[in-house]
Amino acid sequence: MGSSYHRKLQHLILNAPGVKGMKVTPLSRDDLRLTDLMQSIIFKAQEEDIKEPFYVLDLGVLVSSMDNWTRALPMVQPFYAVKCNPEPALLGSLAVLGSNFDCASRAEIESVLSLGVSPNRIIFAHPCKVESHIKYAARVGVNLTTFDSRDELEKIRRWHPKCALLIRIKAPDDGGARTPLGTKYGALPEEVEPLLEAAKAASLDVIGVSFHIGSGAGHARAYGAAIAEAKTVFDAATRLGMPEMRVLNIGGGFTPASQMFDHTTTTIREAIEAHFSNKSGIKVIAEPGRYFAEPGFTLATNIFGRRVRVELREYWCNDGVYGSLNCILNDPGFTVTCSPLACKSNHANPTCKGAGTYKSTVFGPTCCALDTILRAHMLPELQVGDWLVFPNMGAYTAALGTSFNGFNTGVIKTYLAYSNPES
Ligand SMILES: *Cc1c(COP(=O)(O)O)cnc(C)c1O
Repeated sequence: MGSSYHRKLQHLILNAPGVKGMKVTPLSRDDLRLTDLMQSIIFKAQEEDIKEPFYVLDLGVLVSSMDNWTRALPMVQPFYAVKCNPEPALLGSLAVLGSNFDCASRAEIESVLSLGVSPNRIIFAHPCKVESHIKYAARVGVNLTTFDSRDELEKIRRWHPKCALLIRIKAPDDGGARTPLGTKYGALPEEVEPLLEAAKAASLDVIGVSFHIGSGAGHARAYGAAIAEAKTVFDAATRLGMPEMRVLNIGGGFTPASQMFDHTTTTIREAIEAHFSNKSGIKVIAEPGRYFAEPGFTLATNIFGRRVRVELREYWCNDGVYGSLNCILNDPGFTVTCSPLACKSNHANPTCKGAGTYKSTVFGPTCCALDTILRAHMLPELQVGDWLVFPNMGAYTAALGTSFNGFNTGVIKTYLAYSNPES
């Protein structure tokens, strides 16, 4: 892509809702520059004796992620799953990059609408919605949702009968997902026809099929199997004399750009070609959360406690498993890693390049013993007042944090940066 293309995107993002008016630090795509920015934030905060954890969101990473998505799945329109990380700068940037949104509650719809995004760019992708949220969706004009039960159809008929529907089916193979969802949502094969008939009887418009193979899926073949299953539902609708279905929603579960992503997207392209190539005018959409949210966020935490036991080093830092790092409990497949930023003890070489390392344990701040972030992690000798930096911390992190023990995840600040995708 040319540089004028990237200048244009940068301009769009710097003026995006949630970004405009905020300070955005330009970076080259080189780790040291991110480290420099983190150090300058730390030094500035320390002047006021502030040592709170913070995030840096690199908006340039979003541009690369979107480029990569468009290259791999040009026929699949993304609806970013807001629950994964609702940071306004992330939502606003994705909006100007052309993403639509998957919301599951009134508050999520409100946060997307407040960015000036049109309601027809939102899918209310919760198969079992709170009644008052359905009424709200009807009022603001969010006219696409999912269902997998008769009771849900009844609520929609009552409160939002003009809403277009996607029948959510249970994906046949959970693909070894880290957080499979098939046990909670999705119509079983034998439930599909009765549900379609019930929708028809209620004069509701079922325009397509949706599934979600689960977050952090292990195997590409899960998408292939689910796309094949979706085709049988399109056929069932035709058999029942319903209008031709025209939307296929392949859900979320995508890993950030990697070999796994390439493999998954190849499988998806092949499955769409195999099962839907004869369907003209079909719209394919997806609901990626982790894919867009994970890579751009870096978390910095302050070391406020230390204990030395012979060769072992133990550190306490001020965010943990009841905060951003809840992914250790909730998302066991995610590999947490951290590197040192010895702003206090090693000014000349804060990343501690070449320094000897010790087996170290990193604890979170609460009094709970479960609040342990890393064990047997090799780190240089650090001191109270130094920092630890965690990369790839955007997916299901701060969004799920609590204020347990008085350590409030909700107040963690996010600083914005923009690395030029070309450098
Ligand atoms: C959580 C969720 C997503 C996003 O899943 P990722 O694994 O983060 O991509 C998409 N769709 C639905 C319905 C979800 O519940």
